[in-house]
Amino acid sequence: LVRAQGVTKNFGSVQALRGVDLEVFRGEVVCLIGPSGSGKSTLLRCVNHLEKVDSGRLTVDGELVGYRRARGKLYELREKEICRRRADIGMVFQNFNLFPHLTVLENLIEAPLRVRREPKAQVVDRARALLGRVGLADKADAHPAQLSGGQQQRVAIARALAMRPTLMLFDEPTSALDPELVGEVLDVMHGLAEEGMTMLVVTHEMGFARESADRVVFMADGAVVESGPPGELFGSPKHPRTRAFLSKVL
Ligand code: ATP
Ligand code: MG
Repeated sequence: LVRAQGVTKNFGSVQALRGVDLEVFRGEVVCLIGPSGSGKSTLLRCVNHLEKVDSGRLTVDGELVGYRRARGKLYELREKEICRRRADIGMVFQNFNLFPHLTVLENLIEAPLRVRREPKAQVVDRARALLGRVGLADKADAHPAQLSGGQQQRVAIARALAMRPTLMLFDEPTSALDPELVGEVLDVMHGLAEEGMTMLVVTHEMGFARESADRVVFMADGAVVESGPPGELFGSPKHPRTRAFLSKVL
């Protein structure tokens, strides 16, 4: 579903990505780990059209991200086309990013109504079902500020799912949470993984990676150093960089 080949991205003189090769197959859960500044967020942002890649090839569902090819030339996508494609990708951030002035239910139905132009009754039904699924059926009319961090993050996941995405991206979804609230968010993510959602998850939760990931990818200095099933990568890392990193976090 996602394929990166030699993807690079610079911010001025900073090389955030220096040739990333990565594949995420349909139904796969891939956890992305690595030290601060290794380019994990930048890679996710590129996949979600929030950054443009400088070189290399990045495709989602077979379509080139950010560009379109016509008569052998590459053209940058128009904003409208970017929005259409981004609608199929759900993203959950560290800081929830809910709309503070909207209720929980309004947060969930906003994009399906505005972007997909689906019938309201259908969208509301689906939103309520999703809230039930993340254990927040009774919070539909609350505002985000009235919820705990764990609840807000579960709303953010439900909001992403309301668009019926083919791919879910998570960027450290539990890093801003009090320790006792981490579990409820990871449980929701684990459930999604079990249902076969394709997920690319940046996380420091090695327990989650071990339990839920099909593959763990270790990044350092803007490139993929090593990847493999969690048992292999955690049990017998091959690269010294991976070993050094894991010895600090495990
Ligand atoms: P962390 O674990 O701290 O979240 P990360 O692996 O997500 O780190 P990135 O945020 O992708 O790392 O950053 C990779 C590099 O690119 C860093 O050196 C960062 O300072 C730089 N960078 C990222 N975004 C920008 C930006 N918008 N402008 C300038 N530099 C940036
Ligand atoms: Mg980051």
